[in-house]
Amino acid sequence: MAAMTNAGSPIDPTRPSIARVYDYLLGGKDNYAADREVGDVFKRDLPGSVAIAFANRAALMRAVSEIATTTGIRQFIDLGSGLPTADNVHQVAQRHAPESRVLYVDIDPQVLVHGRALLESNDHTRVIAVDVRNPEGIRTHPDATELIDFKRPVAVMLSAILHHVNDDEDPAGIVRYWRDHTAAGSYFFISHFRSGRNPQTVEAERVLQQTFGRGRWRTDAEIASLLDGLEILDPGIVPAPLWRPEETGNTCDVGEKQELTVWEHLIAAALARKA
Ligand code: SAM
Repeated sequence: MAAMTNAGSPIDPTRPSIARVYDYLLGGKDNYAADREVGDVFKRDLPGSVAIAFANRAALMRAVSEIATTTGIRQFIDLGSGLPTADNVHQVAQRHAPESRVLYVDIDPQVLVHGRALLESNDHTRVIAVDVRNPEGIRTHPDATELIDFKRPVAVMLSAILHHVNDDEDPAGIVRYWRDHTAAGSYFFISHFRSGRNPQTVEAERVLQQTFGRGRWRTDAEIASLLDGLEILDPGIVPAPLWRPEETGNTCDVGEKQELTVWEHLIAAALARKA
């Protein structure tokens, strides 16, 4: 695939990108050798770790479904949305409510290219390449103001993004910005890596930090503090597979498992609401 440029940021196939490594772990095809090399470290040296990507993605989709069916919210902002994959936020939301609008935001130029290709036939979606650390730039982007009515409640999806934001870049300030610039009744979904759980996951954190030169995994208390001023809804901050697991008859999708793996414990999920 030819390298393309957006907003001064070219696609560089020689350097791994977070979006493409994640795509590779999810079984996608939008990745290069440099991305697969990093993904293979996880697959080979940290067996079972790929479950994180699937558990995270599944929790995000459950959250979208839940918001679309129970809150009346019809507009979503997906921050650090990643490359389009099997099911995406707009597809799940629009399955329940076809009028749902989704603004996808990611810093990776490849997400813009592939996202636009997927979305060009959908009037209710936009994808923009803006840094999540620049929330004002996102909110005031012409595509955002055209698509999103900020006077009405929105769902802000922060799925597997804030652990890519270091402490000195003020991740709490990012959430606070959206809290302060959204209507009462808005929802915030977060998923986030939990730090220091055991030697295997400490090694995974080291590999990611070394590869991307950034990243900060956090304790549940630190994740809770990112949601300051918002009401964290049941069941609180829990491993992603335990976040409102799908009911299947009398059981739920993790109910039959005896225990979660260390990897499934590694990614936490929570839903919060602005009063
Ligand atoms: N949110 C999706 C999910 O949970 O399935 C994708 C998560 S993926 C692990 C993280 C995404 O965040 C990548 O697509 C990456 O390009 C994007 N990202 C990382 N840092 C970012 C930043 N500063 N601004 C915007 N996007 C960023």
